[in-house]
Amino acid sequence: MKAVRLESTGQLRLRDIEKPSPGASDLLVKVEACGICGTDRHLFLGEFPSHPPVTLGHEFVGVVEEVGADVSGFRKGMRITGDPNIACGRCAECQRGRINLCTNLQAIGIHRDGGFAEYVIVPVKQAFELPADLPPLHGAFCEPLACCLHGVDLAEIKTGSSVIVLGGGVIGLLVVQLARLAGATSVVLVTRSAEKRQLAEELGATATADPSSGDIIEQLIARNGILPGGADIVIECAGISETIEQAPALARRGGTVVILGVMPQGTKVAIEPFDLLFREIKLVNSFLNPFTHRRAAELIATQTIKVEPLISRRIGFDEAVEAISNPATRGEIRALVVPALK
Ligand code: NAP
Ligand code: ZN
Repeated sequence: MKAVRLESTGQLRLRDIEKPSPGASDLLVKVEACGICGTDRHLFLGEFPSHPPVTLGHEFVGVVEEVGADVSGFRKGMRITGDPNIACGRCAECQRGRINLCTNLQAIGIHRDGGFAEYVIVPVKQAFELPADLPPLHGAFCEPLACCLHGVDLAEIKTGSSVIVLGGGVIGLLVVQLARLAGATSVVLVTRSAEKRQLAEELGATATADPSSGDIIEQLIARNGILPGGADIVIECAGISETIEQAPALARRGGTVVILGVMPQGTKVAIEPFDLLFREIKLVNSFLNPFTHRRAAELIATQTIKVEPLISRRIGFDEAVEAISNPATRGEIRALVVPALK
C-alpha cells in the first residue's frame, strides 16, 4: 500500500509498504481522509520528537476493513474516527485521570504508523463510530475539534460570557463555534486574513478584528473598543509570541486566559507576573484531547460544528509530501490527503 513515511528528520517519502494486519484488539481501517496539521511539519523538521521510520498522519477518518479476533462492537464497513493519543492507563498521571499527561503516551502518526496511507491500524479502544451518511471528509476534523473541546472546557465559559479568540486557523475557527455553543454571547476573533475574518463571522463570531490594522489592545478593550475593559475569557489559538503576550492584557480583571497554541520548545515570552497577580488573571494551558474525542465525534456526526468551509484543499498521495513539508499556502485553513485521489 502507499504510505507517506518520515524516514528521518527532513526525509519524507511516498513509499510502497506492506499492508498491515490487525492485532486481536485492533481495527484495520481504510483511510478516507487525513488532515495535514502543523505538527506534521514540526515532525518533518525534527522540532517535535518522533520515532522514524514512521507513517505520519494523526487526523484521520476511514472505514473498517477488518476487525481483530477479540473486537466486539465494530464490524467491516463502519466509518470510524480514531483518537490518535494512546494513554497507557496505568501510570500515575493516567490513574489521576490525566490521560493527556500519560508518561507512556504513544500517538498514531507520531510514534506508530498513521493515516497518510491507504490503511491504518487503530486499537479498538481509540475508535469511535461516525454515521455512514456523514460527508466522509468531515471525520478528519474530530481530532482537532477534540483538542479545542478540552481548551473550551478549561475556559469554563458561562451563558453570556465574552470571549476573545486569537488566531483564525482551523483551531481558532473551531473554538469560535464551540464558544458560541457553550453560551458565550460575544465572541471576537482576531486574525490578519480578511477571508478568515469573514468566515468566522459566518460561523458565529459576533465581531472580528485585524491585528495588522493597528494596536489590538486599543481596538478591542479601550473605552470605545469592541469589549471595553476586556473579555471574560481569552483563548490563544495562534501559537506565536505576540498573541501569547497579548492574551493576558485582553482579559478583564479576574478573567481567564487559555493557551492552545504551541510555541517551539525553548522559546520564551514576556509575561508580567505583577499584572497577572494584581488583576488575578487565571492562566491555563490546554494539551491534547483527554476524554473529549467521543464528544467531538458526536458534534461532527450531528453537523453541529461546521467543518465543510474549513476544507481548503483535497490532495492525493502524489502531492502529499510537498504539502506536508512546506508551510500552508496563504489563506489555507486545512488541506486533507484523500487516498482515493491517488
Ligand atoms: P494555524 O493555521 O497556523 O493558525 C494560526 C493562525 O493564527 C494563522 O492561520 C494566522 O492567520 C493567525 N495569526 C498569525 N499571526 C497572528 C496575529 N498576530 N494575531 C492573530 N492571529 C494571527 O494553526 P492551527 O492549525 O489553527 O493551530 C493553531 C495552534 O494550535 C498551533 O500552534 C497548533 O500547534 C496548536 N494546536 C494545539 C493543540 C493543543 O492540544 N493544545 C492541538 C492542535 C493544535 P492569519 O493569517 O489570518 O493571521
Ligand atoms: Zn499513562
